[in-house]
Amino acid sequence: MKKILVTGAVGFIGSAFCRYVLQNNLAEIVGVDKMTYAASPRTLEDLQKFPGFQFCKLDITDAAIVNVMETTAPDAVIHFAAETHVDRSIDSSGAFIHTNLIGTYVLLEASRVYLASLPPEKQERFRFHNVSTDEVYGSLGKDGAFSETTPYAPNSPYSASKAGADHLVRAWYQTYGLPTIISNCSNNYGPYQFPEKLIPNMITKALRGEKLPVYGKGDNVRDWLYVDDHAEALWLVLTRGRLGEKYMIGGDGEKTNLDLVKQLCTLLDEKLPDAAHRPHEGLIEFVTDRPGHDKRYATDITKMNNELGWKPKIMLPEGLAKTVDWYLGNRIWWEDIHGRQYAGERLGQTAAATSAS
Ligand code: NAD
Repeated sequence: MKKILVTGAVGFIGSAFCRYVLQNNLAEIVGVDKMTYAASPRTLEDLQKFPGFQFCKLDITDAAIVNVMETTAPDAVIHFAAETHVDRSIDSSGAFIHTNLIGTYVLLEASRVYLASLPPEKQERFRFHNVSTDEVYGSLGKDGAFSETTPYAPNSPYSASKAGADHLVRAWYQTYGLPTIISNCSNNYGPYQFPEKLIPNMITKALRGEKLPVYGKGDNVRDWLYVDDHAEALWLVLTRGRLGEKYMIGGDGEKTNLDLVKQLCTLLDEKLPDAAHRPHEGLIEFVTDRPGHDKRYATDITKMNNELGWKPKIMLPEGLAKTVDWYLGNRIWWEDIHGRQYAGERLGQTAAATSAS
């Protein structure tokens, strides 16, 4: 595989995937991104330091994406571009339906047209990889884990839009023979994550001495996957996964939200012995729960392990320490966002939830 078109290349996971591919000289990248609030110009600047990175600012709902494919001639498309924050999808679901559903549809159709224009040997190798979430499966009880055969049961506007996108991808494989693969991953964390998401939200609030809002009792469980492990898994799925298949990618890192936030506080206490806000745990406050908050996610990665020999390498304690170090060492990256786009405000309360608080 010589060249890959990456949608959402400037986002959190898309940029980690680009860095993984470019640092390891695996392929050239054509990055496509609309540069929404979630894309930092600083992340783009870092990517543009790689000679193998080419950038095109474009909305994936724009049918002109087919021209980008025809002029850059990628061997594969890996699709990350999406509206991704569950709380924002509760406030305003329209952009989620537009980008995640219509955008995926436009991209599938463009890929179909582009594929037909390729010579047979290039057609044979072409792949369309859809990056999806374990949230399409809904919520688990105390036991069990999501696998590739778990029925879809999305609960939020975000997860419903991602589930719909997965169904479109599957249909384009079944109906048109587009060579597609889907991966569904658990919650990612690591460098360059927009500070609306739980881990960077807590780190950046704690560094400013602000309250650390934990939803409900903090007993919701997530399976945390370090983003660089995810990037490696995505490369394997893209290059060696079987067409028409789905692959679950998880971090083997289950933790309640409260324990996770406490662990971050301990790390900050250790790394910042002179901080005015120590012990950081004193900043924790419990706030009204998110409406429709899924209780527990867990992922069964047996298929990834058996077929592609993959399992996560960076476990939660090491990954959290690396993540805290990155936010401490890259204040300018998140302070810029704090100053311009997002200052840490609570999002995603329905009227009912707001009045109950
Ligand atoms: P992100 O919000 O950090 O980045 C999304 C990127 O997509 C941004 O750069 C944004 O500018 C771009 N984008 C949004 N709408 C676009 C449009 N219409 N056209 C072109 N570009 C557009 O998201 P992320 O966390 O990097 O997630 C990447 C993918 O992985 C998403 O599809 C998401 O659903 C999936 N995923 C994420 C997680 C997670 O924990 N972050 C977990 C499971 C699955």
